Amino acid sequence: MKLVFLGPPGAGKGTVAERAERDLAVPHVSTGEIFRAAVKDQTPLGKRVKSVIESGALVPDELTIELVRERLLRGDTKHGWILDGFPRTVPQADALESFDPPDKVVNFELDDEAILERLSGRRTCPACGRTFHVKFMPPAKEGTCDSCGAALIIREDDKVESIRRRLAAYRAQTAPLIEYYRDKARLVAVDASPGAEAVYAAFLGLPGLSAR
Ligand SMILES: [Zn+2]
Repeated sequence: MKLVFLGPPGAGKGTVAERAERDLAVPHVSTGEIFRAAVKDQTPLGKRVKSVIESGALVPDELTIELVRERLLRGDTKHGWILDGFPRTVPQADALESFDPPDKVVNFELDDEAILERLSGRRTCPACGRTFHVKFMPPAKEGTCDSCGAALIIREDDKVESIRRRLAAYRAQTAPLIEYYRDKARLVAVDASPGAEAVYAAFLGLPGLSAR
């Protein structure tokens, strides 16, 4: 089963991908990991990625496409794969169609208010890195790390304005892809608003999808 995952930050698709990797016996392939691995292994493409990243520019489509194509040729993909973070643009989606089209594109749906609640409630310990959530995983003493006693902070990324900016960028970028795969009748939706267990059950219950 070849799956592309779409979904806003906070929808929990990373958690689903982690479990699906075992249950469906397919690797979870994210572009971030592909970039890091290529740079570390110093492949010819990796060297190009490294110089692009060091210059502060975005990795261009053709380079990203080539790295994903190489990654999907590896031996661990014989039962399929889960792609996360690719495609991000219609040219990338066109390229994927040409070398390894996905069977389904799973769109994890969560509205902006729920995303804001999940992300803006996050509190981080600046000393040990442990994270909490004011509603879903509160520390024993408000504002204080359970592990080391340091005062918890709100990371820049978890501030409401920053979340709204990322969400707007995500929606703008993803809307054409949703249309693209809907037109090809391969888009399926999973409601990401309940808890992690229910979301995973809904995912496994998608037609044509079964654990190995
Ligand atoms: Zn701490």
